[in-house]
Amino acid sequence: MNEKQFQANVVELAHYLGYLTYHTLDSRGSEPGFPDLVIVGRNRLLFREIKSEKGMLTQAQLKWGGALMAGGGDWSVWRPSQMELVQATLTADPVD
Ligand SMILES: [Mg+2]
Repeated sequence: MNEKQFQANVVELAHYLGYLTYHTLDSRGSEPGFPDLVIVGRNRLLFREIKSEKGMLTQAQLKWGGALMAGGGDWSVWRPSQMELVQATLTADPVD
C-alpha cells in the first residue's frame, strides 16, 4: 500500500470516529517537514507523519517531529503495517 492510500484509510477512520483532520494538499510554499496529518478530537491532538512501509523521514520531518515532541506534542510516524496501532490510538478512551 502506498502512502497516499494509507493516508486515505487513516483519514476515513478518523472522520468516522468524529475527528477533524488537516492535511496540506499542496505543500508548495509551505514549511517543509510539517507532518502530513493533524488529527484533533476526542480531547486529543495528534501530529502524524504518514509513510509507506519503507519510506524514509527527511531531515525537515525529523526536525519538526523533534520540535513538536519537545513542545509537548504527540508526534509519530504511522506506516501501513501499523493499522492496528492507528485503530487503537484513535479509539482509545478520550484523555481527561
Ligand atoms: Mg509523509
